[in-house]
Amino acid sequence: MSKKTTSNGAKCKICRRLNAKLFLKGTKCLLPKCLMNKKPYPPGQKRKRRAKTLSEYGRGLKEKQKLKNWYNLKEKQFRNYVEKVLNRKGKVENADAMLIKILESRLDNVVFRMGFASSRPLARQIISHRHISVNDRLINISSYLVKKEDRISLKLRSSQNLTSALKKHKTPSWLKLDIKKMAGKVIGEPDLAEALPPVEISLIFEHYSR
Ligand code: SF4
Repeated sequence: MSKKTTSNGAKCKICRRLNAKLFLKGTKCLLPKCLMNKKPYPPGQKRKRRAKTLSEYGRGLKEKQKLKNWYNLKEKQFRNYVEKVLNRKGKVENADAMLIKILESRLDNVVFRMGFASSRPLARQIISHRHISVNDRLINISSYLVKKEDRISLKLRSSQNLTSALKKHKTPSWLKLDIKKMAGKVIGEPDLAEALPPVEISLIFEHYSR
């Protein structure tokens, strides 16, 4: 088995283990052959069994794993974001919304949301290969946080495939895309209701507050 196949299979295993469609393989996830359609049970099991009742700790852990993988983050990076919000809990109106606002503002997420990449892992690659600039300055750091009025451009030569994919792509309301210029602008703020990750965020805060 090739290295590529193994890592793609590993991504599907994450979805199956967490019992959530996390869209880790871009457009492939929209095909009927997505393993969450064909084998919606944990790897190693022959078929779907009755769901185990998880402990409170287990539920928090599972929600954390889902959100961390949804945004393609390492444990340390993810924990830093959660702790940043936890430190401000009580001072902010809606901690769930604040966490999502930070995560959505990451440059890799923005490149993905604008449709320049079909998944967040791919967006990260495009950024590290120096194909993205913010306000005409080349940025190769995926964790860079964009803010209102920032202009994000793709420096890759645009292909016919990308142009037609972008025509069908729906950007969130806080981003405005200009396909001709292969650029987008941040015109608002990310919104929890619009991002809607398949996660119970309050359990994540409880998990890290133990
Ligand atoms: Fe694999 Fe489906 Fe998860 Fe995509 S959504 S990574 S295809 S299991």
